[in-house]
Amino acid sequence: MDFPATLLHGARATGLWESLLEAAAGMLCEAPGRATVPWQARACGQCAGCHLVQAGTHPDLRVVVPPALATELGLGADEAGEGAQGQGETRTAAAGREIGIEQVRGLIDWAQGTSHRGGPKVAVVHPLDAMAAPAANALLKVLEEPPASLCFLTGTHHLDRVLPTLRSRCSLRAWARPDARAALAELERRGQSDAQAVMHWSRRAVFEPDPARGLEWTRRLVRQLADGRVSQLDGVTPAQAIESLQKLTLDLMRVRSGLKPSYLADMDAALRRMAGQGDTGAWLQWWQRLAQAARTPDFPVHAGLAVQAWVVELQQLCTSGAN
Ligand SMILES: [Zn+2]
Repeated sequence: MDFPATLLHGARATGLWESLLEAAAGMLCEAPGRATVPWQARACGQCAGCHLVQAGTHPDLRVVVPPALATELGLGADEAGEGAQGQGETRTAAAGREIGIEQVRGLIDWAQGTSHRGGPKVAVVHPLDAMAAPAANALLKVLEEPPASLCFLTGTHHLDRVLPTLRSRCSLRAWARPDARAALAELERRGQSDAQAVMHWSRRAVFEPDPARGLEWTRRLVRQLADGRVSQLDGVTPAQAIESLQKLTLDLMRVRSGLKPSYLADMDAALRRMAGQGDTGAWLQWWQRLAQAARTPDFPVHAGLAVQAWVVELQQLCTSGAN
């Protein structure tokens, strides 16, 4: 068996990661008569192979993700590269947001062994762009001469950041955002209240651990701005706060232009009251500075204070020209 390595690319929180795991499970299913082609094979959920995958103990499945992502996804120590920190290598790997070379070496050792259950061995590596050069080079050697029966499934949210050498070894596969029906179905499966509003807010990227968090924060902020007193602004990370302020600002600018809000579809009237003030140039400047902050990595160090400052500025913008 020879499987082409696949690189699945698409936006964050749109189910890409879940699709990688589904494809892996499909390949490891042992039901008679199943397809054995990656992305076509479907797991039956009943056989011994499927039970091992569900339990997270399938010996022919290896999941490699950055330690920080493993924590977020609730994965075990193996995937997080624990025990590989003797050299201090994974520790320094950009605060755990990169796949370390020890993790790749572990993957290589595992890939050389024979299959435990006689089927393919499946490696899931994600995201493929989260790797420093030494790890990427080590991984490249496996992709250049993949062991027999190794099925290599990998993903990225930033195709442009994947090293060309790695990318050229994979067949590319685009992952689309879920449509409205699929997004709502996922939100319902999670028992998410107010699913329509969350779907609009997230632009159907509903596969977050908590897709409503930014929406709740923004609704609270809009209410507080309407009352003229901003108090509690915790509950989101600085990055989430900036993203939420961007969405709110876009909707305010839409409302100023006589359009309907797209992220906060049900808050038309409240936004209209906020957006009436200030001159357009000031709003554009504000928007550009937000966009710049969103592009700044590790934004910012003094998180809480910075969010507070941004909000005060928005408040001034909404009230300027009112008197
Ligand atoms: Zn099965």
